[in-house]
Amino acid sequence: MGTIPSETIEQIAAANDIVEVIGSYFPLKRAGANFKALCPFHQEKTPSFMVSPSRQTFHCFGCGAGGSVFRFVMDYEHTDFPSAVRKLAARVGITVVEKSRGGAPEEDQQREARRLLLKLHAEAAERFHNNLLKAQFAGPARDYLEQRGINRQIIKNWQLGFAPDSWDALLKWALDRGYTRPQLLQSGLVKLRDESDTRSEIYDRFRGRIMFPIHNDVGEVIAFSGRLLPVRRSLGEGGKNEEGIAKYLNSPETPLFRKGNVLFGLHKSKRPLIEANCAIVCEGQIDLISLFEAGITNVVAPQGTAFTENQARILKRYVDEVVLCFDSDAAGAKAAEHSLDALLQNDLIVRVLELPPGEDPDSLVRREGKEKFENRVAGAQDFFDYWIEREMEAADVSSLGAKLQLARRLAETVSRVRDPLMRGEVVNKASARLGVSPADFGTLLSIKPARTASAEAPQFARAQAAPGPRHDIAMLCLLALRDEAARNFLLAQNWREILEQVPDAEILIRILQSELHPDDPASLSAFMASLSPAEEALVSAWLLQKVPADAETMVEKWWLGIRHAVLRRRLAAAQNRIKLPELSTGDIVNLQKQILDLQEQLHELSQPAGAADN
Ligand SMILES: [Zn+2]
Repeated sequence: MGTIPSETIEQIAAANDIVEVIGSYFPLKRAGANFKALCPFHQEKTPSFMVSPSRQTFHCFGCGAGGSVFRFVMDYEHTDFPSAVRKLAARVGITVVEKSRGGAPEEDQQREARRLLLKLHAEAAERFHNNLLKAQFAGPARDYLEQRGINRQIIKNWQLGFAPDSWDALLKWALDRGYTRPQLLQSGLVKLRDESDTRSEIYDRFRGRIMFPIHNDVGEVIAFSGRLLPVRRSLGEGGKNEEGIAKYLNSPETPLFRKGNVLFGLHKSKRPLIEANCAIVCEGQIDLISLFEAGITNVVAPQGTAFTENQARILKRYVDEVVLCFDSDAAGAKAAEHSLDALLQNDLIVRVLELPPGEDPDSLVRREGKEKFENRVAGAQDFFDYWIEREMEAADVSSLGAKLQLARRLAETVSRVRDPLMRGEVVNKASARLGVSPADFGTLLSIKPARTASAEAPQFARAQAAPGPRHDIAMLCLLALRDEAARNFLLAQNWREILEQVPDAEILIRILQSELHPDDPASLSAFMASLSPAEEALVSAWLLQKVPADAETMVEKWWLGIRHAVLRRRLAAAQNRIKLPELSTGDIVNLQKQILDLQEQLHELSQPAGAADN
């Protein structure tokens, strides 16, 4: 596969168990010898996505997606093959040495730029972290965190850092390390003095802030969120621009960081989320860290924004239920409401944990402890109960006009519920509270489809399995992939010569050409890495099929069928040719010989066992 040696690919495949890798993204349930799950590549209600630990492959019998562990990472993370290889290599501590090659310089450049950005983020995180642990200028930050219950160990657990109050501390450090101005600008760690002039002076974006590294779900630092120290706010606003006084400041969107696609803390909370099948959503990083460190680990934070469609979709891979923690004030309710659309669209059950006035999850869990907080989570109200109650309280339902208005508003929210069962339930609740019949209330619901085609996970559109080859070739592919003896039998035949005459046999030729060993899943993965996505999907399907018990006799039978078909086709061609006018006597004699010879060969072969006709 171009730049990465196939031995390295095999080595990486061998070290990355596909069940573990896929299981780190979403839960897998055991199903006999395999594991299954709802397919992440198409919408489905019953699982048809299978993972085979023995073959080290996955395949979805619903949409045809399938392949090796590399294919999974490529499709799931929307990356290219080399990135998937590097990611899996990093996961198991293998260094990938790439041979340089001529082609696709643009792709190489992009990949290199990404690699450098990741390296810069990792190093910057380490630097900020060391500042916070050791530097004298970080004293106030340490004090502040200590006072919020974040001790040295927690600082280490989350690699928290500190950016000094300087215009160029990071800038100088990074330039010293060989990073260039364009790289630094691309990272978002520095910014232009004059945004409209790309040649203007650059300076540190994060100054005098506690730094929270933001990780992707495999734990690489891809951005930062900087929190201003409260003490600075008391300095007053004189001379500070707007950004300077924002309590939280995030990295801008970069090639690594798309704000709406990242959930803070997910790299640590994936497992707990799956186990609890419920996500506690809090707003800020400190809330999340406090809950996590208190032992409430099924937590995520959407980075201070409302849930995006993508964040909700990511979350749905781990849980069916979401508990939103928010302030009892109006702003909190608004924030929750903004998240609602995305959550309901993804069929997540939403509950609401209303915090006592003046409390946030951080203060609450530290004051009350883990168990009390868990009780609050367990008692969290269904979002619609909560919401209907709130609306009823606020409205004057004694006037018919106000009541109608309220009914319309409720109906609009209920319309967003995609799941028909859940929707029916909410209609019943709302109509009961309003004192109208469910049918009447139902007429207010908009009937527009809750999910438009464009929201249907377009980024998961992928190459599906090609239509399989004819049955006899497919059988031989299956046997050559799965049974060493069958494979050896085929390799001992004049397979190249025969298969070149068979339409559709390209995939079988590739299987026989490759150095794969049916009992070595890593070699299967390396082989699959050399295929097109459609071919790989096909192979992954074969790898999940049962091998016939008598593979050795089967392979002979099917091979005989192929040979028979090839001879018959050549015979038919010769017989057609001989009928052509204007043949020389020599041609005719040759063709007659050929026909006799072919008839003899056909006769020698016993009756084919397989249905091998073309
Ligand atoms: Zn599928």
